Amino acid sequence: MAVGKAHIDSWYHQTANAIADRPTLSGDVRCDVAVLGAGYTGLHAALTLARRGFKVSVLEAGRVGWAASGRNGGQIVTGYARSMAEVEAAVGKDDAHRLWALNEEAKTLIRDTVAAESIDCDLTWGYLFTALKQRQVDDLHGMVKEWAGGYGYEGLDILDTARTRDIVDSPRYIGALHDQGSGHLHPLNYALGLAVACESAGVTIYENSEVTAIDSSETPSFTTASGKVRADYLVLAGNALLGGLVPSIYSKIAPVGTYIAATTPLGANRMQSLLSQNVAVCDMNFVLNYFRKSPDDRLLFGARVSYSGRDPADLAQQMRTSMLKVFPQLTDVAFDTVWGGLVDITMNRMPHLGRLSPTTYFAQGFSGHGVALSGIAGKVIGEALAGSAERFDVFARIPHHAFPGGAFRIPLLRLGMLWFRLRDLM
Ligand SMILES: Cc1cc2nc3c(=O)[nH]c(=O)nc-3n(C[C@H](O)[C@H](O)[C@H](O)COP(=O)(O)OP(=O)(O)OC[C@H]3O[C@@H](n4cnc5c(N)ncnc54)[C@H](O)[C@@H]3O)c2cc1C
Repeated sequence: MAVGKAHIDSWYHQTANAIADRPTLSGDVRCDVAVLGAGYTGLHAALTLARRGFKVSVLEAGRVGWAASGRNGGQIVTGYARSMAEVEAAVGKDDAHRLWALNEEAKTLIRDTVAAESIDCDLTWGYLFTALKQRQVDDLHGMVKEWAGGYGYEGLDILDTARTRDIVDSPRYIGALHDQGSGHLHPLNYALGLAVACESAGVTIYENSEVTAIDSSETPSFTTASGKVRADYLVLAGNALLGGLVPSIYSKIAPVGTYIAATTPLGANRMQSLLSQNVAVCDMNFVLNYFRKSPDDRLLFGARVSYSGRDPADLAQQMRTSMLKVFPQLTDVAFDTVWGGLVDITMNRMPHLGRLSPTTYFAQGFSGHGVALSGIAGKVIGEALAGSAERFDVFARIPHHAFPGGAFRIPLLRLGMLWFRLRDLM
């Protein structure tokens, strides 16, 4: 039985589907592929490989969906955390088009997996990018030009102030971009459903089994406190929590804290008056607010970031201040739960996939777009280990640099981010 790390208290945990207990690794195990991490990346890699006949073991330090995959805003977002012009500048036009197609497939992968595996996770399509100022309205028009004009993307609609406020009853927003192809889901239930799908395909998942040593040689293995897994290949899908175990790739990401609050239930009518459509919303600020409604008519509101590695002392109060800026009519509304987790960002805000050695593959650095991108990352790692690396290599060709400052990169990042925060205010 799994003991030890429990899921944190969140609205997602309170409304989770059945959570199975899974064993802790004990003794020596042999398999074809061993995966570190039972988030979306690790689970999609495991599922892809198991469906192709590989014997796969997943080692998870906590529980399935314990980290970002069980805590996030649930927002499935079109595109990358960079404009496609910036992507083209970094990787060239051909790879930019391949990356766009992979991002589109990332969303289809969620749709198909949820349908094929009957995962009950409230998957819903429809999304608003909202603008607070004219510069951001211009940016939204730029996105339409780039996505629809350059990449043939359909389903976008620019909304003026009145149409925006018909959907989001906030005085903050002066316009929006409605994207039918982005959406939202219950993140923990999606992760739990993926784990069940993996097990049905023959994967063994070990929980409370933290990997303490990685051997990425020709005879690779993971070691935990109570066992060892030897395999032909390893997959590192530990995201922001992999930490110092692999310093060479950890230097390419910075872990940033981000937070979500669930209000008390507002009742169907009041919730409908705040958000008249069941869309996820994300504003265009650098330090952004993102929110949506829950099926039990709460507001799930995401805000704040922390570059210090510590949660702000007055987190709930800060979240409340942020929420009231968007919805000043909610002064009488309390939070039931506030929680947070780590997003791993890269210098260029593009995902970081690669090979540590010929036997050891990794994916990290989804930079706030991981609900969709981590799944396709896991899938292309699975494809690569099964023999066709073309699509993996499209991601692996994206150039990445270490954050300057080494161990001091977090204070430096904080300083760097100050400029962007100031820009949000201008
Ligand atoms: C609060 C919050 C809100 C977010 N909102 C959004 C959003 O709305 N949209 C979006 O696209 N993205 C969002 N993200 C980011 C998104 O959740 C992640 O990019 C995505 O879940 C990454 O999946 P993953 O499987 O790579 O990593 P994770 O889900 O973090 O999984 C990694 C797993 O590896 C395990 N692990 C680490 N080290 C070890 C070890 N040594 N041994 C064994 N196991 C180990 C961890 O316990 C963890 O379970 C958000 C993140 C947070 C924290």
